[in-house]
Amino acid sequence: MNFEDYNLSEELLKSISMLSFETPTKVQEQVIPAIFEQQDIIVKSQTGSGKTAAFAIPICELVGWGENKPQALVVAPTRELAIQVKEDVFNLGRFKRLKVAAVYGKASLESQEKELKQKTHVVVGTPGRIIDLMRRGTFDTSKIKYLIIDEADEMLNMGFIDQIENIIKKLPKKRVTTLLSATMPQDIEHLCSQYMNDPIKVDI
Ligand code: AMP
Repeated sequence: MNFEDYNLSEELLKSISMLSFETPTKVQEQVIPAIFEQQDIIVKSQTGSGKTAAFAIPICELVGWGENKPQALVVAPTRELAIQVKEDVFNLGRFKRLKVAAVYGKASLESQEKELKQKTHVVVGTPGRIIDLMRRGTFDTSKIKYLIIDEADEMLNMGFIDQIENIIKKLPKKRVTTLLSATMPQDIEHLCSQYMNDPIKVDI
């Protein structure tokens, strides 16, 4: 498989080549086509597998530049991961001039609100701060088409499962959901069966 096989735009191919990615990793071979086909997918994979680019490549391609409201939401367990994912999405979306915001706790709410009031294509954040911003009305989720739940088992361990459920419940029903987790505890399986639409499962 080559990145050229996915019919990616020149902008995406250029950023992939700038990152020196030559061929898709195994997880990318599974996840990229699934998201392009608007298929929900549960991915059992570890850090280091290329899982971030696996969802970031199709998301960057699929979001429309002209829409001002966020179209994709990535939920992550920690601020470090949120910042890392934001950077990865930014690097992949740079030639499409995509706006990516990271929102997480113990940082200025004001500056994150200011960022969200401007054009934003992709929001990456931790559960508590996402909920705060939704409640305050600064994070408008009405145009969210893509939801990515990253490191779901970590979020379960940190006690975020109810918060994740609260977030999901407020998102548009017509969306594509991708869930990534290194392990599949029962609570995560349950979340998937309740909120995902006939998901395919891949175990890398
Ligand atoms: P991740 O599993 O998302 O934490 O990614 C692990 C590392 O692999 C990151 O440094 C990525 O930049 C890199 N990476 C992702 N996809 C590819 C690829 N197709 N070829 C080479 N490196 C990659």
